[in-house]
Amino acid sequence: LTERLSKAMKNLTGRGRINDEDLQATMREIRLALLEADVNYTTVKKFVNNVRQKAKGADIMSGLNAAQQIVKIVNDELTATMGEEAVPLNKSDKIPTVIMMAGLQGAGKTTTVAKLAYKLKREDHARPLLIAADVYRPAAIDQLEILGRDLEIPVFSMGTDVDPREIVKAGLAKAAQDKNDYVFIDTAGRLQIDQTLMQELKDIEVIAHPDEILLTVDAMTGQNATETAQGFADALDITGVVLTKLDGDTRGGAALSIRDVTGKPIKFVGQGEKPTDLDVFYPDRMASRILGMGDILTLIEKTQREVDEKQQASQLEKMRQNTFDFNDFVAQLQQVQNMGPMEDLLKMIPGMANNPALANLNLDEKQFKHLEAIVQSMTPAEREDPELINPSRRRRLAAGAGRPIVEVNRMIKQFDQMRKMMNQATNGNFGGLEKMMGG
Ligand code: GDP
Ligand code: MG
Repeated sequence: LTERLSKAMKNLTGRGRINDEDLQATMREIRLALLEADVNYTTVKKFVNNVRQKAKGADIMSGLNAAQQIVKIVNDELTATMGEEAVPLNKSDKIPTVIMMAGLQGAGKTTTVAKLAYKLKREDHARPLLIAADVYRPAAIDQLEILGRDLEIPVFSMGTDVDPREIVKAGLAKAAQDKNDYVFIDTAGRLQIDQTLMQELKDIEVIAHPDEILLTVDAMTGQNATETAQGFADALDITGVVLTKLDGDTRGGAALSIRDVTGKPIKFVGQGEKPTDLDVFYPDRMASRILGMGDILTLIEKTQREVDEKQQASQLEKMRQNTFDFNDFVAQLQQVQNMGPMEDLLKMIPGMANNPALANLNLDEKQFKHLEAIVQSMTPAEREDPELINPSRRRRLAAGAGRPIVEVNRMIKQFDQMRKMMNQATNGNFGGLEKMMGG
């Protein structure tokens, strides 16, 4: 999350409704975040307009503040734009399924061919054949052959003196003979799209009738990725996209632009150079990556997720009966620590979301760790019956937790107050809790 964006979000915190000014400011930040993530300018413009329409006057879902709400709208819209669901590889009714690669030189075609064939072999016990049809770089054939040898996948090649079209024909004949169920055609690339290359690819398309033409795009090329994708999509009947080098330092905005410009689904992402570094593309994960706000989204999800009602009921019952003990206390602390910012967690407690007392709560996470350490130093009996904790036990706890004895004393006193307060449960006075947390 960019600093600007989080600042804009902070300004919105606590608002119940999104007004025009808030929206303008936040949309400006979202726009910049997308541009920084290398989303193509036209795509950003279109996208931001969509989001603005959706965000206008949207009521705030309970438990979310205005900024979180906008982020959620943006995230949902990003996910939707990129296709919502993962799209599987096309498969032919009869063997073989033919998969043809396309893309600029260095985009990752050869690497992806090996990764994908290896994935199919591993997961579906497929018997793929790889056709080496890049005759312009002698090393390209060697590269594929070495990969094939390592992964125990056969490679069909005819050297560099044969026309790629002939290689493809002969390769397909070989696959028919050997009853391979998948055929991958590794093609040549250029540094830039040119007519000779496009014609060759078009010819191969006509010869091989591929079930899938996978456009391979280097995510690191940022804004240029869109142009490249457009060029290939104009000439070929692209059926899917592989976005490579996402393990690099990129937010992956290219995913959004490419999808927007070509309308073709991104099917896989390359996340490294090893044969296993290929993953199915999930639009929702990419959305968080583009926004650079995975943590916030996780938190929003948690806030939305229904809290286990039964467990809550039992804790409330315990509070009422004044049997809320240190075990419950530490269980709560643990829950809290797993869930992120304290304020957001407290909002999940029934009746707390709109509690004005919450607005003034300022909880110190470090303080939490100390409290937890003290409770962890207690014996099971002490946790169940805090009355047991006499002065000598307090000294032991202080030593065990590495905290001063005054802190132990204060905690036990505050815990006592907390229990009393919880006993009065639903009257909305949480001052004791705040004190307890060092506020
Ligand atoms: P081609 O010219 O399109 O066939 O590209 P290559 O498959 O030869 O890949 C070019 C370079 O990019 C090689 O050094 C690959 O190891 C590297 N590469 C390909 N995919 C990835 C990826 O997902 N992550 C990283 N880090 N490197 C990749
Ligand atoms: Mg290659």
